[in-house]
Amino acid sequence: MKTPYSYQLEVANKIRDAIDNGKNVILEMPTGSGKTFTALYALQIYDHFMVNTRTVSQYQPWEREARELDITYAGLIGKTRVCRKPYRKVKVGNKVKYKTSKCTWTEKGVRQYCEEYAYEINYEALREKGIYRYCIEASKCPYFELKINQNAKMYLSTYVGFFLNFAPVKHHIAVFDEAHNLMNLNDFIEFNISKEELLKLIKHTDGAEREYLIEVKKFLDGDINTIPIPPTNISEETEEIYDALKEYDPEIWRIYRDDKKYRMKPIDPSYLLRKLDGYQWIMMSGTMFSDDYIQNVLHLSNYERISAKPFEPNIQYYLYDDEKLNYNFSKRDGLTQKTVEVVKRLKAEDGITLIVVSSYQMAEWFKGVADYIETPKTKLDEVKKRGLIVAVARGKITEGVEFVENGRSLIRRVIIVNLPYPQTNDPYFRDVVDYVTKVWGQKTMWKLMNEIAYITVRQAIGRAVRGPQDKAEVYFLDIRFRSLFARLGLSEEVQL
Ligand code: SF4
Repeated sequence: MKTPYSYQLEVANKIRDAIDNGKNVILEMPTGSGKTFTALYALQIYDHFMVNTRTVSQYQPWEREARELDITYAGLIGKTRVCRKPYRKVKVGNKVKYKTSKCTWTEKGVRQYCEEYAYEINYEALREKGIYRYCIEASKCPYFELKINQNAKMYLSTYVGFFLNFAPVKHHIAVFDEAHNLMNLNDFIEFNISKEELLKLIKHTDGAEREYLIEVKKFLDGDINTIPIPPTNISEETEEIYDALKEYDPEIWRIYRDDKKYRMKPIDPSYLLRKLDGYQWIMMSGTMFSDDYIQNVLHLSNYERISAKPFEPNIQYYLYDDEKLNYNFSKRDGLTQKTVEVVKRLKAEDGITLIVVSSYQMAEWFKGVADYIETPKTKLDEVKKRGLIVAVARGKITEGVEFVENGRSLIRRVIIVNLPYPQTNDPYFRDVVDYVTKVWGQKTMWKLMNEIAYITVRQAIGRAVRGPQDKAEVYFLDIRFRSLFARLGLSEEVQL
């Protein structure tokens, strides 16, 4: 059985101490340092725990390490991916919903089961194959038993499964993987209603239901302020709309309208996290939020912060010390040529030099110089893996491209041109900023902005060092990076 390195053992012991003392945990360990293994190693002594990932495909590292440690698991998977019975697609609003067969139901007081239903779970076969393959290859369909299984030590679910209550099993210890994503948690519950579909629904209904839908349209258009109350006996499609509107609280939710749809979304960053009350949570990521942000914006408390940064000595940081390189929005236009010159000078002799800028417009500055420039249409498999690569903060490259060959990172240098504050021209983000400012003050708004910039920078740096053998140099051009010096663990001495 796999055994932990000394730094992993130290972290695992700290996690157990925190859990045993009734605390929550913020766990910060970089990619490649064995974060998943360390967390599982720590948690294996408890009867049960659950792990929540952003998507089902992110179960894989947990399944792999559970195999190493002989941990039994079950969990939630998309029914349409594994159901053996036919299903049909139905459009609700502009979302496609699937109508699947029932796994189990009651008829005249007697419990009935689908003829494919598997009553038993073979944990060993499950561990060997992983949830998806096990569901597909088992002689009977284990989907439902896996979903309601309380016996396995680990229960795998997604953020949506946890926060929107799709997961019927919730263990008291709840892990959230890649927890920096919780910053965008409200994206998961955004509700879209297509204008065309709503009009069609109005056209094809009659009586009280039709009257109700007309009022719904007025509400969504902003013509009336009160949420309409539906009549009894409405269709499933109308009920879905009502279910979404029920959540609406004018203090916390906003409605956005364009030509095609209505978009309803909460603007309080801590809105869904209130559902963590009563759980002992572990938030883990290579890049975790500051305590200030966690406590004052996300409103989470009673936690131990546990960090291990075994690769930090492999990263060398430099601030390009030139007062003229101030990329404040009002000053940056005259900096194109100078920036390109500096970047050409800093290009690594071999491997990849990754340049990170805050917008697609800035990325264009490097036309004719760079080997690849990210655009809004970039597809992950078309990104070249050599030379100068320009990536846009929070874009596809910094979030998802692996520049690794034979287990080694190809990135030698990362040049972060400017402080990647989020774009405030997005109406949703503007509302979040206004809300945070109104409720918690101007200072908190800046905490939010700085936190987003900081997480983005760390994510970009994390692309370069994927394991203990990787080394990278990181250059900051924007003189305003001085304000993030302490957070980045830098000191004045690292200037060029
Ligand atoms: S038991 Fe399996 S095959 Fe039967 S309805 Fe449920 S998911 Fe589909």
